[in-house]
Amino acid sequence: MQVMVTGMINNIFFIIFPIIIYQVFSTAGTRNYFVSHRIKLTIMFSISIVLCLLFPYQILAEEYIFDLRQVPMIVGALYGGFAVSATLFIVSAMVRILIGGDGMYIAIANLFLIALIVPFLRPLYMRINRLNKAVLVFVISIFSLLFNMLSGYIFFGHELHEMMGIWTMIILNQGVLIIVTALLIEHFGRQEMLLNTVMKHEKLETVSHFAASVSHELRNPLQSIKGFVQLLETKDYPREKQLEFYETILEEVEAAERLIDDYLLFAKPTYGEVEKIDVDSEIDQVLKVMNPFASWQNVDFHVDKSHTELIIKGDPRKFHQAIINILRNGIEAMPSGGVFRITTALVLGNIRIELKDEGVGMTKEQVKRIGEPYFSNKIKGTGLGMMVTYSIIRQMDGEIEIESELNKGTCFRLIFPAFYD
Ligand code: ADP
Ligand code: MG
Repeated sequence: MQVMVTGMINNIFFIIFPIIIYQVFSTAGTRNYFVSHRIKLTIMFSISIVLCLLFPYQILAEEYIFDLRQVPMIVGALYGGFAVSATLFIVSAMVRILIGGDGMYIAIANLFLIALIVPFLRPLYMRINRLNKAVLVFVISIFSLLFNMLSGYIFFGHELHEMMGIWTMIILNQGVLIIVTALLIEHFGRQEMLLNTVMKHEKLETVSHFAASVSHELRNPLQSIKGFVQLLETKDYPREKQLEFYETILEEVEAAERLIDDYLLFAKPTYGEVEKIDVDSEIDQVLKVMNPFASWQNVDFHVDKSHTELIIKGDPRKFHQAIINILRNGIEAMPSGGVFRITTALVLGNIRIELKDEGVGMTKEQVKRIGEPYFSNKIKGTGLGMMVTYSIIRQMDGEIEIESELNKGTCFRLIFPAFYD
């Protein structure tokens, strides 16, 4: 009795252990891992089958040896389909041939029938609920065992009524285990799905927050576009002037597009292409885009460029976004206009960009909190601009230093490692 229980527990272990290990090492959040990773499924169940075949156990009577190979065969065929069941059949048949013995042909015929028939039940199995799944695997298991039982009766003249006790035990034995196995896999599948839903929900929530703020941040370029269109409407400008306006309108539209892109990109974990960025020419472009907004607010840009070529590495469009967000804040901090000084320089092998406004400034507490998501002191602020900027600068291995004095102004200093070919 003790030998039997030990052997049975070994067999159970051979089947359950790979499933648990598999689950532990599976990537969290993958939808229904057991269904979609057929190669791993095949390897895992092959190991279970081989171990079951190699370490069978006795049931009650001395001469009756049994193992639980049918469990991974059936479950593998149900979750994996034809390819998996065919592979499992080949593996188990080979091992079974090596073991040899009287019952070899019956055993192989049995495995063959499982591999052939069970995958047809897969679509049904995938549709039904857990309770019905448990019933179905139990029924398949009974049929599979009845096949062996009848074959034994036909080919070896085993007395059916004498074997009843043993077969009942075997049926219950294997039946319970196959139900537990199926439920375990279903349980893990459910957990994966739950995790997936939670993750998707979180992402959706972030994205919807962003969507709300993007629409808000879009107002600036839209307003300036509106302004130009109104200008064009009220007066008959010479053709050249008109073209200039159209140019600026196009730039604003592109800026708006980029804004959307960058916010959406930001919601994605991936980082865009890394290119060489020529700091001075890139800042020129940004200033050109920002100029209409600045002059509308009576802000003048004073640019003091270094006379060397300053190259850093990063995604130029994101770099744009980072600078634009700083410039916009500076301009917004100067409600009655002023001078915005932008300096670029190479200092001690680092590239330094200073953006200094003459605006309202910040308190020490405000400076500390800057870059926190949704930290804003403006009535209609999003509190996302600086968060995006910080994240971009950090991705580029850069640093941000802020010096600010209330009612005097603020200086943003960006420091990047210089890039040399
Ligand atoms: P938002 O501009 O939508 O408020 P930001 O993340 O761009 O959000 O900025 C966060 C806060 O940091 C602003 O509300 C403002 O109080 C402060 N801030 C940022 N830049 C400046 C600046 N140049 N001068 C004064 N305050 C600033
Ligand atoms: Mg801002």
